[in-house]
Amino acid sequence: MRFDAAGFLVEQGADPQTAADYLTLRKAKKAAPTSTALKAIVAEARKAGWPLQTALEMDRFFGAKGTNTVSLTLPYTMRVAWNMEKSVTRFDCNRKVKESLERILIRALDHYGIDVIRQMRLDRYGGCLNVRKMRGGSAWSIHSWGCAVDIDPDHNQLKFHRAQATLDNPEYDAWWRFVYDEGAISLGRERDYDWMHLQFARLK
Ligand SMILES: [Zn+2]
Repeated sequence: MRFDAAGFLVEQGADPQTAADYLTLRKAKKAAPTSTALKAIVAEARKAGWPLQTALEMDRFFGAKGTNTVSLTLPYTMRVAWNMEKSVTRFDCNRKVKESLERILIRALDHYGIDVIRQMRLDRYGGCLNVRKMRGGSAWSIHSWGCAVDIDPDHNQLKFHRAQATLDNPEYDAWWRFVYDEGAISLGRERDYDWMHLQFARLK
């Protein structure tokens, strides 16, 4: 079946005219609009769509800290990392990240299945919306805007580096691909600390 490039872009949120213009440009360069090429472009566009992580930019984009939040119903039940008997079926996040976050979790569930998700501890919830200062700093935590999520904090502690953090293991490559496809980033992958943490904001 022929890959419908225009349809793909529109499905990803591009307006039809932009999609058509882009494909014309690509044709002129004799670059085939393959699915892989387009996905990379969509990921880049999504990344550029998230604000730079300064308080000003964040307020402007997400709204004031702790506001503009919605409840995300999870595609699979998570557990509170520090109290494993407590189930989490939903949590609050910023309205603007809800769809992306949901897509990451759905893709993870499709890819790994619930048993593997539990084995890999991708179901250990470490927090999302939390209006607070950064640990050991005066700047506001990215969590204040509800656009960051912590996963499996016990095995991916703030000061752990690659060698210790389990989220750097190769079996998590697909997980991070789903995260990066939404333009979100991993502090672990970018800066090699706080591996538990993913965020929808660009680093300075
Ligand atoms: Zn975090």
